[in-house]
Amino acid sequence: MSYSVSPIGFVRSCFKEKFAIPRQPQLAPAARGVLELVAPFDQGDAVQGLEQVSHVWLLFLFHQALEDKPRLKVRPPRLGGNKAMGVFATRATHRPNGIGQSVVKLDKVESDRLFISGIDLLDGTPILDIKPYVPYADIIAGASNSIASAAPHLIEVQWTDAALHQAHAHARRLGEPLVELIEQCLAQDPRPAYQTPAPEREYGAQLWDLDVRWHYPVPDRIRVLEVIPAAD
Ligand code: SAM
Repeated sequence: MSYSVSPIGFVRSCFKEKFAIPRQPQLAPAARGVLELVAPFDQGDAVQGLEQVSHVWLLFLFHQALEDKPRLKVRPPRLGGNKAMGVFATRATHRPNGIGQSVVKLDKVESDRLFISGIDLLDGTPILDIKPYVPYADIIAGASNSIASAAPHLIEVQWTDAALHQAHAHARRLGEPLVELIEQCLAQDPRPAYQTPAPEREYGAQLWDLDVRWHYPVPDRIRVLEVIPAAD
């Protein structure tokens, strides 16, 4: 038996590629986006009352990780990418039906769009449903998960003077907390766990319309080298 679902909207996100997106929501509060609703949900009726809610659950499609053949085991990056786990024990993107869920902060509600932050969603992500966060039911005192028992270890992020200057200038142009966004995302250390980065190796990711480039002067420290307009 199969069912079909249709998106109720799409996210316009600061994250233009998968690399360097935090592994869960709330890890980068400066990560912002806009959920643009599609008809018939874009007239105001469907979001009436939502302004009374601080956070929402988003159910979405991992549209850039959809696969025909379901995987039963996955190798989560959090476990170093070399240990297999049952797919249902993880939040891996490759999963049956490709459905993800994230709790995000709801900053502003308009009739046809929601302003959200603390997101872990790629630009263009199709949203299947929105549900209000209900603290009395959703906060579970004493809950445990020993596979993912704490937020990822953060590493130090430094800047070259030029990169910091560029980031401040683009932050003003975009009207976005760009310096914070870069620091919060890079502090999660986006590089695959199995890579020991040589200091001369440069890494890059696109945030908003910018190419952010960095390297690792020593393995547990990032230095941002450039924040420049991304090539089209
Ligand atoms: N919070 C969600 C969950 O638990 O279902 C997502 C967790 S998943 C581990 C987070 C990763 O999904 C991000 O780091 C990003 O690389 C990836 N991602 C986000 N949006 C995506 C999309 N639309 N398609 C494919 N991958 C996506």
